[in-house]
Amino acid sequence: MNYRIALDGPSGAGKSTIAKRLSAELGFVYVDTGAMYRTIALYCLQNKVDISDETAVAAVLPDIDIELKYIDGEQRVLLNGTDVSKEIRINEVSMAASKTSAYKPVRAFLLDAQRNVAKTQSVIMDGRDIGTVVLPDAEIKIFLVAAAEERAKRRYKELLERGQNVPFEEVLQDIVQRDYNDEHRAESPLKQAEDAIRLDTSLLDFEQSYQAVLEIAKSKMAE
Ligand code: C5P
Repeated sequence: MNYRIALDGPSGAGKSTIAKRLSAELGFVYVDTGAMYRTIALYCLQNKVDISDETAVAAVLPDIDIELKYIDGEQRVLLNGTDVSKEIRINEVSMAASKTSAYKPVRAFLLDAQRNVAKTQSVIMDGRDIGTVVLPDAEIKIFLVAAAEERAKRRYKELLERGQNVPFEEVLQDIVQRDYNDEHRAESPLKQAEDAIRLDTSLLDFEQSYQAVLEIAKSKMAE
């Protein structure tokens, strides 16, 4: 049988790191839906599309082809055939994605692609609306949260490691702003599915968070 694991939660809660390791351990395909939203935002920035103009963003969607591909065991993101895995992680793209992901045509554009990958194989999909909208029938739903300060600390460290020296206050402010955008948009806002298990990782390190998620997944699969 195929399993679908929906892993949702706010920015920086550790979803993608956990999802990557879990997909390797369980042999499931990992689908990073945030990367898809980021790629659309990157395309808009690269092509000087006004990201505050929904109609302008919607108009360029047919020009965008996104592919998630495994190269040497690493998931890479291709935008019209070009590897943009690094570019989509910069702060400017995070903020732009938080804006463009609120647009209905953008969400509709990605919805089918996200559902299609889960049709024929076991997946772990991370995002904001996987358990509520994309895969409402997922067998396993986990909602991962952590205090904003804690998420900002992790993100700050991650950015430093990538050579980006963004002031901590700015990282925290961005996280708070992105939470607000994700929670208050009309289309598929960030919210816990009723049947999701909520896991707060504020006081857990990565290993503890991972083990807790693994435990939930295994116990659900044993049912
Ligand atoms: O998860 P990540 O931070 O990479 O996602 C980038 C942006 O894409 C988020 O700020 C969020 O606004 C949006 N997103 C979304 N729905 C998803 C995944 C991401 O709206 N399923």
